[in-house]
Amino acid sequence: MTATPRTALTIAGSDSGGGAGIQADLRTFFACGVHGMSAITAVTVQNSLGVQGFSEVPAETVTAQIRAVATDMGVDAAKTGMLATAEIITAVARTLDEVRIGREGQVPFVVDPVAASMHGDALLREEALEAIRTELLPRATLVTPNLDEVRLLTGLTVTDPGSQREAAKALLDLGAQWVLVKGGHLEGVPDCVDLLSDGTHVVELTGPRYDTRHTHGGGDTLASAITASLAKGLGVPDAAEAGKRFIERAVAESYPLGSGIGPVSPFW
Ligand code: PLP
Repeated sequence: MTATPRTALTIAGSDSGGGAGIQADLRTFFACGVHGMSAITAVTVQNSLGVQGFSEVPAETVTAQIRAVATDMGVDAAKTGMLATAEIITAVARTLDEVRIGREGQVPFVVDPVAASMHGDALLREEALEAIRTELLPRATLVTPNLDEVRLLTGLTVTDPGSQREAAKALLDLGAQWVLVKGGHLEGVPDCVDLLSDGTHVVELTGPRYDTRHTHGGGDTLASAITASLAKGLGVPDAAEAGKRFIERAVAESYPLGSGIGPVSPFW
């Protein structure tokens, strides 16, 4: 018998194509050496060409999954991905309070505010954005939006590093402790620069931009790698740095699969 590993919980949707969502989260947890657990919020019908549809899981089944693992196995860090509806978001927020995940001094909690797939398919019902703002961001140790998600959550359009800072401030004002504004979609910039801030510290995480379109599941993989490091006890800046190095390698080794967009790689 070996020692009990650290544990990480993902609260997210299933991707039948195995590129993003729960499937990406669990394999990233595994690759990072933590025991992965899941509360599934929705089942998407999906392949490399996009999301053809989804069914959400009843909110009480989502919260029962969280309670089941938190009260027995323990959670060292948690993250959310696709949450589908305002009802699920509100129920998840209440349950996180109950099991002492999120908020200052409690178990670290990463919010990846997933709203749409990279094909533009909606993964969140319209009224749910407000629930992310009011219910999740005040509980988040870290929120990890891409530039589309920044625009949806704050109304700000990021076009350069200056506006990336402004966006980080707007998200901190909504209550998150730390914000990672991902700059991967910023045009005309040679590197991928992500901006990490808690309002006092500002850190730029810089990495190469790889010439690949196969980046499906990249956001989930980054947020999961950061969550795994938080589960192991790292602070947010070190966990974000470790996550950045993990996603760089996953993008560098991404592969085509199907006729559309292939996944970032879990193999190395
Ligand atoms: N499907 C599910 C279940 C997801 O959670 C996500 C992203 O978080 C996606 C699809 C979209 O992934 P991508 O934007 O990498 O295509």
